[in-house]
Amino acid sequence: MNEKKKKNDDYSAETYLIYGKAHTMKWDYNHHVIPPISSSTTYRLDSAQRGAQGFIEFAHTTEETKGRAPIYIYDRLGEPNKDILEENLAFAEKGEAAVTYATGMGAISAILGILTKSGDQILAHRTLYGCTFSLLSNWYPRYNIDVGFINLLNVGELEQNITEATRVVYFETPVNPTMEIIDIRSVCEVVAEYNKSRSPENRILTVVDNTFATPFCQRPLEFGADFVVHSLTKGIGGFGTDMGGAVIGPESARDMLLLYRKDFGAVLATKSAWPILVYGLPSLPVRMRQQQASAGTVAEFLCRHPKVESVNYPGAECFAHSDLAKKQMRDYHDNFAPGSLLYFTLKADSPQARKDLGEKLINYIAEEAYTITLAVSLGHTRTLIEHPGSMTHSAIPPEEQLARGLDPGGIRLSIGLEQVDDIIKDLGEALEIV
Ligand SMILES: *Cc1c(COP(=O)(O)O)cnc(C)c1O
Repeated sequence: MNEKKKKNDDYSAETYLIYGKAHTMKWDYNHHVIPPISSSTTYRLDSAQRGAQGFIEFAHTTEETKGRAPIYIYDRLGEPNKDILEENLAFAEKGEAAVTYATGMGAISAILGILTKSGDQILAHRTLYGCTFSLLSNWYPRYNIDVGFINLLNVGELEQNITEATRVVYFETPVNPTMEIIDIRSVCEVVAEYNKSRSPENRILTVVDNTFATPFCQRPLEFGADFVVHSLTKGIGGFGTDMGGAVIGPESARDMLLLYRKDFGAVLATKSAWPILVYGLPSLPVRMRQQQASAGTVAEFLCRHPKVESVNYPGAECFAHSDLAKKQMRDYHDNFAPGSLLYFTLKADSPQARKDLGEKLINYIAEEAYTITLAVSLGHTRTLIEHPGSMTHSAIPPEEQLARGLDPGGIRLSIGLEQVDDIIKDLGEALEIV
């Protein structure tokens, strides 16, 4: 900075209110215990040369640029809050690199967007979060990308359905909302067999949506998955205040993920990155420990309740997939970590009767319960209940839901931070009236 310009006296007070001191050390992140909220859409480039260098280096990682401070240009390309959050998310998932997006759907669109092109095929598990199902069934066929829905609980179906065109195998585990557990290692082993005879560009890649488990309970990359996606809106954000998404995977994919974000524009707002970085991620383990202890107690209560037909909770002995869950869902200290979500049905004579009873239960809770809220989303401080068949998963046609493992009467419960006896009191009262 020019010496003369340091003398603020030379300028008017109005101008000073805009520029402040010509020199300030207050931008130095190194001495903040908490990073300040970065709220600048654009960045001062100092010189044309440095500006040009910034554009050359963006999404163009080389040995030289690695480990060097980035040249920030414009928020959509990158800025400090997102960058710090991405470093921490990569660490949380034990991956090399992470790129954030405006929402979970932004992240899912980005990873599938960089991995596929016209003529390719995606194989996906038959049950998926409703908007992911809609993306794959309503939009991808328009781009001439074929999507095959298969049952990945049976890995043999994968072997039967892989073709020359298959590029991606996509699934959630636990599956939203049924809590079924897909064996990540087995799926990746089948894919690895097929990849032996393929060129590197034609490798089939596995993408796991780890939103339900969060990295505290399970890290799919450790079982051989290529990419993990997250809705940061849920358990990682944790407080229900902000939307966000992320893709975590190999360093080699980072540049393409950044380019996709730059051009398609689903950029995580700095003001959303900040609370996820400062509140959400640091408190994830303590929240998850509390929530999964409560979820275990609620699952036990439901398993014993005479009006309850089935309880899908990875930590419940009465759940068919609990053995696989025990192998796959482990926290950072290798303790079994079954998570904070449950799916259950009530006893009735037919699917329609189960649906009617489930609705009755949910309506009673919506009206009367203090500690359980009827709302979509999950991984919140508050316990949330919803009916996937008519809400989060309504994109799956009702006549297909049962065949995809979704019971019309299924109820999803996401356990929050309340005292567990209070949750059980509200749940017990509602079960009395159905
Ligand atoms: C909510 C959710 C998404 C989508 O995330 P948004 O942040 O709402 O876009 C994707 N996958 C799963 C499993 C989810 O629960």
